[in-house]
Amino acid sequence: MVFGAGDPDARLMLVGEAPGRNEDLRGEPFVGSAGQLLDGLLEGIGISREEAYIANVLKCRPPGNRDPMEDEIDSCKGYLREQIRMIQPEVVVTLGNFATKLLVPTEVGITRMRGRRIDWWLGATLIPTFHPAAALRGRPQVRADMEEDFSLVAEVLGESRRVVAEGDPVQNTLGMS
Ligand code: URA
Repeated sequence: MVFGAGDPDARLMLVGEAPGRNEDLRGEPFVGSAGQLLDGLLEGIGISREEAYIANVLKCRPPGNRDPMEDEIDSCKGYLREQIRMIQPEVVVTLGNFATKLLVPTEVGITRMRGRRIDWWLGATLIPTFHPAAALRGRPQVRADMEEDFSLVAEVLGESRRVVAEGDPVQNTLGMS
């Protein structure tokens, strides 16, 4: 089982599709080549993977890396819901069609959904983007589009609505820190 990894107080949560072989072996999400690409995108906006929280729609590897099946998504989605509820991220990035369609009820495909800024559950902003594996196999434009979507992530995090960021809560709310 690959549950998820990162900071439980993360402001940014990323949701992928399902663990692959490397993730299955290590018990951690996005540790293979798609993960390296993801690390690069995060680095580009000054965030390390340790500062974020990374999870997947499915918690177990589908045999042969096939697409997740509906009953598998149904079995796993309660875990993802509780992960989101506990972490309460300010921004949720869905990576690819499976995560996007699970978290935003839509028939619209990822190519048209990506880069949108969606006011979402628990006051979070949800931003869909491509799956990093698509950038590995696809046209160079896919990576460029993902970089643009991650800039939007940085922009939204920069506009944080959280009054109390860290330190003494009374000082923060009084603007004295
Ligand atoms: N692809 C995913 O969607 N998740 C992972 O954890 C690794 C690859």
